[in-house]
Amino acid sequence: MDKLIFSFSNKSLKNNAKSKEILGGKGANLALMAKLGLPVPPGFTISTKVCEYFYKNNKKIPKKIIKQAKKEIKIIEKITKKLFGDLSNPLLLSVRSGSRVSMPGMMDTVLNLGLNDKTVIALKNKTENGRFAKDSYRRFIQMYGNVVLGIQSHFFEELIENYKLTKGVLQDTELDENDWDGLIQNFKDLVKEKNKKDFPQDVNEQLSGAIRAVFLSWDSKRAKIYRKINYIPDHWGTAVNIQAMVFGNMGQDCATGVAFTRNPSTGSKELFGEYLINAQGEDVVAGTRTPMNIINMGKSMPKIFKQLKKIFKELETKYKDMQDIEFTVENKKLWMLQSRSGKRTAKAAIKIAVDMVKEKLITNKQAVLRVDPNILDTLLHPTLDEKAEKIIIASGLPASPGAASGKVTFSSDEAERLKEQMQNTILVRIETSPEDINGMHASQGILTARGGMTSHAAVVARGMGKPCVSGSNEIKIDYEKKLFKAGSIEIKEGDIITIDGGSGKVMLGEIPTVKPDISGDFSKLMAWADKYRKLKVRTNSETPVDTKTGRDFGAEGIGLCRTEHMFFDEKRIISVREMILSNTPEDRKEALKKLLPYQKSDFFEIFKIMNGLPVTVRLLDPPLHEFLPKTDKDIYDISKELNISHQDVKFRITELHEDNPMLGHRGCRLGISFPEIYEMQCQAIFEALAQCKKKKIKLVIPEIMIPFVSTAAEIEILRNLVDKTAQKIQKTHSIKIKYYVGTMIELPRAALRANDIAKYADFFSFGTNDLTQTTFGISRDDSGKFLNDYVENKIFNKDPFVSIDERGVGELIKIAAERGRKQKKSLKLGICGEHGGDPASIEFCEKAKLNYVSCSPYRVPIARLAAAQAYLKKK
Ligand code: PEP
Ligand code: MG
Repeated sequence: MDKLIFSFSNKSLKNNAKSKEILGGKGANLALMAKLGLPVPPGFTISTKVCEYFYKNNKKIPKKIIKQAKKEIKIIEKITKKLFGDLSNPLLLSVRSGSRVSMPGMMDTVLNLGLNDKTVIALKNKTENGRFAKDSYRRFIQMYGNVVLGIQSHFFEELIENYKLTKGVLQDTELDENDWDGLIQNFKDLVKEKNKKDFPQDVNEQLSGAIRAVFLSWDSKRAKIYRKINYIPDHWGTAVNIQAMVFGNMGQDCATGVAFTRNPSTGSKELFGEYLINAQGEDVVAGTRTPMNIINMGKSMPKIFKQLKKIFKELETKYKDMQDIEFTVENKKLWMLQSRSGKRTAKAAIKIAVDMVKEKLITNKQAVLRVDPNILDTLLHPTLDEKAEKIIIASGLPASPGAASGKVTFSSDEAERLKEQMQNTILVRIETSPEDINGMHASQGILTARGGMTSHAAVVARGMGKPCVSGSNEIKIDYEKKLFKAGSIEIKEGDIITIDGGSGKVMLGEIPTVKPDISGDFSKLMAWADKYRKLKVRTNSETPVDTKTGRDFGAEGIGLCRTEHMFFDEKRIISVREMILSNTPEDRKEALKKLLPYQKSDFFEIFKIMNGLPVTVRLLDPPLHEFLPKTDKDIYDISKELNISHQDVKFRITELHEDNPMLGHRGCRLGISFPEIYEMQCQAIFEALAQCKKKKIKLVIPEIMIPFVSTAAEIEILRNLVDKTAQKIQKTHSIKIKYYVGTMIELPRAALRANDIAKYADFFSFGTNDLTQTTFGISRDDSGKFLNDYVENKIFNKDPFVSIDERGVGELIKIAAERGRKQKKSLKLGICGEHGGDPASIEFCEKAKLNYVSCSPYRVPIARLAAAQAYLKKK
């Protein structure tokens, strides 16, 4: 076996600073800080490889590891001059998880390990602080009892609450040494009752129990959910970090804190953080006491504050990124417990990347690679309309920006249930815990009554890009009655509220929103991205509003205009139905004549906005039955309009019924059966161009796209039809029109016969929605029922309708691209399925050498950045 334990006890152990894959993020950072000579409590990391071994070998920890761990503890003993389990000067340890990427609060930690009935007395004598020693011991029993022995925390909490009630006090701080003694006994009794065994007094037994529990927590329900949401592979595993304990709760010259080297909400270059005097780290994060702004440390602990600021600068310069730091001050001595890349909002991510280029810490290429394209989503969506009337009912901390409205819900399960019904919710909790992760994911925003800017709710919400207002102590939540009170106002479950995570305000009802500002740093970063990308980015759009949004976000053309979407308008649908229900081509042509002016004006508006950029117009694609009247009223209206009987309409509907419409009479098959439909659409396109010319609008070069092609003959016939229509219009309007004709590649046969098809096509656009559907034989509309099972059983890593299946669908794309281009060198290649806006799929498109991707308007900036990253990564 390779080396599996790595010490960071000593600055000279340089070679132990291994990668995150081996040491986990926390372990790697501790090793690096130690290497920099920063004050890190001595310790060591058990590699993630051991976790891998643990799960492959019946959850056994190799004996060798425990033996080696004990050797490492000897080194810590030497440095700290304390002994593990010693009766006069005991060494206490922390045992923490740490995977490759941070999974805040998802896995377990055990602190104060090494305390027992005897060492606690030694700790008391050594520190001359009985209250501290006993408090530490009860915390240890509580944590170990919960994490290692599986006893739910609330049993311990209830014992404390009952004790305080009997004593008539409110705060834990009002309990003295004797009280904790009493509670220690109660805790031990609880452990014995639940675990049928005494609380372990052997410190080595405690150690192996804690290591085991950390490995087991990798597979806890919440960790699994977090991994699933964040696409973290299950096989990575966690490392275990074992370190000498340092205490921030030994008196008034002690403190503990969390800080970010820049503001993680706005990105401003300012110290941002919180600390508590005489407290342990968990007190800051759990939100049980309200922490102070770190700036106050300048007054209360000026020397330490100066030292901290120096270290922050050193760490930022070393990591070239904003750091999230945990520290503790033990009797006036500063200890660094953690430094990692800080989670930040999208706004902060962009500002920090751009600022760091200005500060010459990173290059603009690095800045482009620094920002995760997926998080831009939160920036591109609307924020609260300042002018809208608002009834503010409470306020709290602006923990994660953005505005969200939804029904108040008090439980994660309810939030999940409502999500399934497509309802928006705001999850309202006294404070959140890692158990709430799925509810936070399901809701639009989070509101908590307790907790600071670094509380669980705040950190997780920022990571998810969800608006969050935390620590709103103006709201009083009653879980039982399912309501909360804000002053005299009572809000019940199901009532709608709005939260603004940027200002910390909570408002009644749903407040209108406005478009985001995408100038400044955002546009600067986008300009750098545009410089480095090779893939063009277009938008999928069929309305003037979407087209304008796409253009504003930087779309360089339209990659898919689904013309059928233009037919659903109330005024048009009657004529569409008339066309479908027609029995003869003549009747159909009559109905189409009514649709022509609508199509023409649609195209004109879009061409005007696109001002010379390419526009791919797809001719009618969906199965006709989608347009058929469904309700009795619709059937009545259409029979009146067409002057035919109710019965006849119903008969025609039955005739048009298909058992498998997605593979039925759709796409180019409609064009073959009813060429007059495609003729009308082409006429509308060309006449719209003629109108543009008349109005001196810069002409776009339309790319007319034939959908659902599987044979060369289909496109040959339909290309002829387009050409003939073009000739006719050019003659009538005496103009020369430039256009292209191409096809979608969305059927496996089309991909395989791309060489034949390319003879008649100027371009291919990969319709990866249908191509995924037909390659897997999985219905786009019904996959929801079993996709989760497939992901859970690891048959799929990700939903193939979200991220391209490179090995199957991707292979077909590569084949089609290669065979198509062999036939026609100039063949233009793009993608217009949903995958066109997914960063992982965009990386594939770059590798497959496509010319452009096309996606929904709001994903255009995401695609621009992802395309740049794909190119830079490939290089
Ligand atoms: C596709 O199939 O990928 C596509 C873009 O077409 P639609 O989603 O309209 O079927
Ligand atoms: Mg399709």
